[in-house]
Amino acid sequence: MQSEGAINRIVGAAFLAVAAFQDPGIAAQADPPTVITIPAPTSGQAAPVNVMNFRCHILPPQGVVPVRPDCDDLHTQATGPNAGPAATDLSDHGGPIITSTQHRFIFLNCPASCFSDWGNPFGFLTDLFASNYIHLTDQYMRGLTKANGRYQTSGSFAQVMGAQPHVLHDSDVHNLIMTAINQVFNPNGGGGGYNQMYSFFLPQGQDLCFDNSASCYCPDNNCNGGTFAFCAYHGSFDAVDKNNVTIHVIYQAQPYDNVNGCNVTNGPNGALIDSTNNVFSHEIFETITDPDLNAWWRPSDGQEIGDICNFLEQNPITLNGDRYSIQKEYSNDVHTCAAGALRLVNLSHDFNFEGVSDVLWRDNNSGFVAMWLMSDSTVLSSLGVGNVPTSWQIVGQRDFNHDGFADILWRDTGGGVAMWLMNSGTVQSSLGVGNVPTDWQIQGMNAD
Ligand SMILES: [Zn+2]
Repeated sequence: MQSEGAINRIVGAAFLAVAAFQDPGIAAQADPPTVITIPAPTSGQAAPVNVMNFRCHILPPQGVVPVRPDCDDLHTQATGPNAGPAATDLSDHGGPIITSTQHRFIFLNCPASCFSDWGNPFGFLTDLFASNYIHLTDQYMRGLTKANGRYQTSGSFAQVMGAQPHVLHDSDVHNLIMTAINQVFNPNGGGGGYNQMYSFFLPQGQDLCFDNSASCYCPDNNCNGGTFAFCAYHGSFDAVDKNNVTIHVIYQAQPYDNVNGCNVTNGPNGALIDSTNNVFSHEIFETITDPDLNAWWRPSDGQEIGDICNFLEQNPITLNGDRYSIQKEYSNDVHTCAAGALRLVNLSHDFNFEGVSDVLWRDNNSGFVAMWLMSDSTVLSSLGVGNVPTSWQIVGQRDFNHDGFADILWRDTGGGVAMWLMNSGTVQSSLGVGNVPTDWQIQGMNAD
């Protein structure tokens, strides 16, 4: 391997800084983290690190048919009948999956603060990894694990600093990731394998293309003829660590996604945060279930867990007590895009699908309906839901449409039966179910 030599020849033109994240809830107010400055290569001018077994998979902008780069060939070649149990399901192609991970951030040229320039990807990932939603991946773990907390983000990050060309290439990203691994995260060697992953974030205005390819992140249409084909990608490659030992590196590359085609504009946190997290979530789920592009994807069209549901937002979704708008992911369990894990034992009264029962209130004078979203004995939020004439009574709180969120069943004094399909405190739809003479009573619910 000549990679370490290549890295050593090109150090000195830029800087790599490392610092530790504090508790995400207080990161914005914390003192500036201690920064250790380390020389790093100048991207775009460096001899590319010698990588092998490079695989990638891109997330196209909304409405764009992607031009897939060579490293994404497995999926574009997919044709023919689907071998899965349902026509739309993902098939297991037997390659590695991520059953646990230590995740790390690498930021390129944070304009103001790595904590906030991309929104809050650290806070989001911490919430996602602690959520019920991440357990949607349990069904793809081949029975190995369903453990809470098996995915962790480290609380440490690297910032690569130094002038970059307008268009970076994936080989530059490999260089910068290997520099961060070899000089910051694993100066004594190591850093690869299926229990570690790296997210590489590029700043606003920084374009990115695949080497020898027209497939680019290029919202400004200024990529030397390259086309705007992706919002982000995930992939893997082999390169050598600090001890010249070959390691397998799992990563995502994420440009600035608050741009047309990649953005989410109607979420609860503003376009920057919601756009970043939506794409980030897609890449994390796909990395877990298909890190080398040879595990979970469907043969009919090559799509992975996130692709099938691209930009199909769950808005809002509550993760670890915080609200987001992020896309659904494909679940073989329910044969559709879902915003949570299938529950084998259905928990009643869980309106926000966090694994905890919540409390529904009714004012029998006014007819007003309200909700407490709970965490143990703490009221996370108190929500007004609606107002219904008191001739209607709540007779059941269950998940009737199998989306993970408890719904509300109604009965009126004339025998009418109706249903509210809920998403937390929001009535997604109100449906008439039927009318049954009132000498018939609904059983087994007792209004609960
Ligand atoms: Zn994808």
